[in-house]
Amino acid sequence: MSTELLFRDDAYLSTARARVVGVHEGGVELDRTVFYPQGGGQVGDTGFFVRPSGERVPIVDTRKGEGVDGVLHVVQPGTGLAIGEEVALEVDWPRRYALMRLHTALHVMSCVVVAPVTGGNIAPDKARLDFDIDMSLLDAARIERETNALIGRGIATETVWISDEELDARPELVKTMSVQPPRGSGRVRLLRIPGIDLQPCGGTHVRNIGEIGPIRVLKIKSEGRRNRRVEIGLAG
Ligand SMILES: [Zn+2]
Repeated sequence: MSTELLFRDDAYLSTARARVVGVHEGGVELDRTVFYPQGGGQVGDTGFFVRPSGERVPIVDTRKGEGVDGVLHVVQPGTGLAIGEEVALEVDWPRRYALMRLHTALHVMSCVVVAPVTGGNIAPDKARLDFDIDMSLLDAARIERETNALIGRGIATETVWISDEELDARPELVKTMSVQPPRGSGRVRLLRIPGIDLQPCGGTHVRNIGEIGPIRVLKIKSEGRRNRRVEIGLAG
């Protein structure tokens, strides 16, 4: 089952109306959604369904379902939601906006630390990238200073789409070795921060990197022989 992914064209939509099209053990499927399912290192959204009666049903997580754009909204058992029911959707917006700021911050930081990215994760309170790099080349103060200088330029972000073939012809676009861009739909979504970064990404981003505000490097540590983990948080 495929769901219309409203966040893909407008990450700032925190509410929408939708219809239940599937009820499974793993979650509820809708015809459309503003809830981002866990993927690409970004955790899934939380929030509420609001039923016509006014009852609020907590959504505790969002996961990918079957099919290219399948989305499962995870609810507690026994909600009684049924196929065909109309619900209003409410994303936990402060949480999601923090995720968008931190996610976009990782794009900026990936241009300050020039090394292959081996992994990453974005949670509401902190985000990290793992690099294949020598520890001696990672200086927390420098990473923080240079990332914040780029953020301070206040550049608008852009979403662009290219075909699978165009991406194959430009392998240098893929920085993240562990997270290959999603394929199968014939086209790939890229995030462009003009003059700073261009890479495939299906996540949610802020419209202007100035919205991130200053970041702090929380931790740099060794995670295995080749992995160096740089963890950041929002300073404001
Ligand atoms: Zn991204």
